[in-house]
Amino acid sequence: MKAVILLSDVFAYDSHLHTIYSGHSHPAMTVEAVIRQMQEMRLEQIAITEHVFEEPDLSTIEIIASQIPPSVENVLIGVEIDADATALDGALVAPTDGLDWVIASFHKFPGTSIWWHEDYRKVKEEKTIYREWLDWVHKVIAKSKPDTLGHPGALICQLSIVEEFDRPILRDFAEILDSCREHGVAIELNEATHNKMRRLQTVTYYRVFQLAKEKGVKIVLGSDAHSLPKIGRYLWAREIAGRAGLGVSDFIIPTRRR
Ligand SMILES: [Zn+2]
Ligand SMILES: [Zn+2]
Repeated sequence: MKAVILLSDVFAYDSHLHTIYSGHSHPAMTVEAVIRQMQEMRLEQIAITEHVFEEPDLSTIEIIASQIPPSVENVLIGVEIDADATALDGALVAPTDGLDWVIASFHKFPGTSIWWHEDYRKVKEEKTIYREWLDWVHKVIAKSKPDTLGHPGALICQLSIVEEFDRPILRDFAEILDSCREHGVAIELNEATHNKMRRLQTVTYYRVFQLAKEKGVKIVLGSDAHSLPKIGRYLWAREIAGRAGLGVSDFIIPTRRR
C-alpha cells in the first residue's frame, strides 16, 4: 500500500535551525542537544543550517558536520548563507558544494554592510533599497540556484514603504516566483519571520504562499529555531498554510546529497 503523507506530517520536518555556533543562539543549543530534541519531538528529519555570513564561516559547518554521529541519518547538513550584499551580482558569500540543503538569505541592505535590524535611513532611500533588493533576489535565484530562499521578504519588511503584502508588492513577488519555478528554487515558510514584521505584514504574508501554490513553486518549512523549544514548532506557519490553502503536494522536504 502506498504511504499517504498528511499535511500534519509536513510539520514533522524542520529545514532551518541554528546552534551555539551562530554566536547568537541559546547556549543550550549544542549539536548533541539539537539532535536529542529532534528525537524527543519525534521529528522525521531536520537540517542544521548554521549561518555563513562570510567565507571563513564555512569552517563552522565542518565542525557541526563532525559532531553529527554517522548513525543519525535524519540530520542533514545545510547552511543559511548570505547573498553577497557588496557584489550584488547574485553570488553567495561562499561555495556550497557538498551541502545537503542551501538556504540563501538576505540579512544586509543591498550595497551596504548594514544589517536588517540596523538603521539604513542615512545611507539610502527606501525606494532605492527596494528596487535594488528586487533586482538582487532575481540575480541570486538565477545565478546561485539555492535550494530555497530564506524568509523571503523579511528584509523589505523593515521599510516603511512596505506596509503590507498588497497588489504592487505581490506583483513583484509574482515575478520572483516565476523565476523560482524556472530555476527550481523553493521558498521558505519560516516560523520566525513574524518576529521581523509589523502586524499588517504578518496578516497579509499568506498571499505570497497562495501565489506560490498557484504558480507551482514548492514551499519548505523551517522553524529558524535559535533555542531548543523552538525546534519543529510551527504556530504562525500553520496559520499561513491554512489561510493560503496549502496541501501536502505544495511542500518539499530537504533530501540528503552526501
Ligand atoms: Zn535568516
Ligand atoms: Zn536562520
